[in-house]
Amino acid sequence: ETLYVVEELDPFFEDQIKAMGITVDGGKNLLSLLGELDPGMVASSLSRGGVPGANPDLTTDPAPGRTDLPMRPPTMCPGCSHRGVFTVLNRLKVFVSGDIGCYTLGALPPLASMHSCVCMGAGIGMAHGMAKVLQPGGKTQHRPVAVIGDSTFFHSGMTPLLNAVWNQSNTVTIILDNRTTAMTGGQQNPGTGKTLSGQFSPAVDLVKLCEAFGVGHIRTVDPYDLKAVETAIKDALNDEGASVIIAQGPCVLEYRIKHEPWVIDAELCTDCKRCLRVACIALGLATTADGREVVEIDATQCNGCGVCAQMCRFDAIKAPVPAPA
Ligand code: SF4
Ligand code: SF4
Repeated sequence: ETLYVVEELDPFFEDQIKAMGITVDGGKNLLSLLGELDPGMVASSLSRGGVPGANPDLTTDPAPGRTDLPMRPPTMCPGCSHRGVFTVLNRLKVFVSGDIGCYTLGALPPLASMHSCVCMGAGIGMAHGMAKVLQPGGKTQHRPVAVIGDSTFFHSGMTPLLNAVWNQSNTVTIILDNRTTAMTGGQQNPGTGKTLSGQFSPAVDLVKLCEAFGVGHIRTVDPYDLKAVETAIKDALNDEGASVIIAQGPCVLEYRIKHEPWVIDAELCTDCKRCLRVACIALGLATTADGREVVEIDATQCNGCGVCAQMCRFDAIKAPVPAPA
């Protein structure tokens, strides 16, 4: 009998099968290690490898794409604690060296405030390198900002921060502390107070950890308070050395946080659409009977974070009125 193993990416099954002492007649020696497979690619690869019965002419026509659907660019969840930080970073027009996590979505417009992202843990190290190259005189306007989630920081951000402090780098590191590993499904991390299997474990204190590294300028900030975030970033940019800002806001999905939706006062709204800059999917456009394009809040999506309201210059976005007791 003959055994071929067809799998995408690394030879995971193939290696395990071989380790069990079973002969594999064809696998990654025939198929690509990269990308997704389709029937046409599999048939032509097996045919080139001389596999009997493989049809070299098999082609796969993907279903024609629909062009009449609305765009659905990926973005952060309604109520996400990262939205406010990226809204402010966009306003300040600083260079942001990013990392891997939900917050990498901050690279996309309209937030558009992550300018490099290489791999887990690279954000702080790259900011450190840029700071050394771009700031021969320590100029604050060239000071790069690194953003990194709490989980990635524990995984591979601590050593570059220590290196930046040790080498007296003029960087600002924002640790987006949402107390989970959100992008991969909400796993625990050394800051959550639990092990992966849910047992109690001492939670690392980020402030004390940064103090132990020798960071002199450490601020904690409420990421939903745009003024506070802006002040914290400006203060850090104006200070010497490797500064750290810890933006503390738990992941709304992981901790099942749900607030009442905010509402738009149509009498006050001028249709300027400035609120759309926060990239929240609960904000959408609708056309009125007289043909005006107006902003609406989808009450089923809104998580009542109030970030969009802080963008409105006309005080048109209102917190929900509590129901009478
Ligand atoms: S920012 Fe305010 S005034 Fe402008 S569209 Fe949004 S709610 Fe209306
Ligand atoms: S308050 Fe505004 S930004 Fe926050 S979830 Fe609701 S619509 Fe989105």
